[in-house]
Amino acid sequence: MKQPIFLKPLFQERIWGGTKLSKAYSYNIPSSQTGECWAISGHPNGQSIVASGYLAEKTLGELWEEQPALFGHFNSDRFPLLTKILDANEDLSVQVHPDDEYANTFENGELGKTECWYIIDCDEDAEIIFGHHANSKEEFMYLVGEGNWSELLQRVKIKAGDFFYVPSGTIHALCRGTLVLETQQSSDTTYRVYDYDRLGQDGKPRELHLNKALEVITVPHTATKVEPAVAQTLGGNITTFVEEDYFTVYKWDIKNSLSLTQEAYFTLASVISGEGEIISEGTEYSIRSGDHFIIPNQMQSFTIRGNVQLIASHPNSKGGRQGDMESTAREVANV
Ligand code: ZN
Repeated sequence: MKQPIFLKPLFQERIWGGTKLSKAYSYNIPSSQTGECWAISGHPNGQSIVASGYLAEKTLGELWEEQPALFGHFNSDRFPLLTKILDANEDLSVQVHPDDEYANTFENGELGKTECWYIIDCDEDAEIIFGHHANSKEEFMYLVGEGNWSELLQRVKIKAGDFFYVPSGTIHALCRGTLVLETQQSSDTTYRVYDYDRLGQDGKPRELHLNKALEVITVPHTATKVEPAVAQTLGGNITTFVEEDYFTVYKWDIKNSLSLTQEAYFTLASVISGEGEIISEGTEYSIRSGDHFIIPNQMQSFTIRGNVQLIASHPNSKGGRQGDMESTAREVANV
């Protein structure tokens, strides 16, 4: 199938959510506390559904099982990545995610969660929590016990266009006034360290997970520096933000027309602003702000035309789980 696979976004209400997903992308959101648009997801907690074409109404999980050729037979027992747009109208909880090994053991075979953020838009004085100042787990726990968050947590000022790579084990939080496109491993496991003593939707404080957090947190904090590489052409610019074990993330900033080739097994793409067309073998598919689609393996080359900006990503070698195959290999080895 040499055509893009468009997906219907789905939405998650959160106590920190707002209405920006409707204002920025005209999405039909469920309430004025909508925090997350799950844009490209094969995760069982919220699966994308194909929007059009002969695969319409299939879930991404079904496609992954039934049509592996679309994904170049990428070696993973599940769709490996998850693209979200987050509207942090209020602060998110201070949190940390486990790595693959910990999540597989303690969270029912979940993947770990390494994530990254492209700041689509934010308030003038917006910031994030990214890392901490403790030099040991003892010091970390002491400052948590004292409730000395200002000394413990590292705050970073942000602006639109910034990009942050957040490996599993990193203490982090989006703060109020921030609209973010997140590319992450397909995982829904979060350990909350601090929730500002707020009450959840049910009127009770949301659960904290300090013990698990302490087991997975990186101490001392190590920041992975992101140095975007920009390739400029007349047709537009391509920025490579990060190229890591799990994923590579790009910005395609199309000025008039850019011809691209598939750099991996398949590619995820989200239109963050503008409009135009994606052209495959002479057929045009219009794309506009808020659209999300997968470029399948069969689309080895394509052109994007218009004044249109996209965040694109693809999984890399560690970007999945080869659970069954590994255990089979182990069984064979044991014999
Ligand atoms: Zn997170």
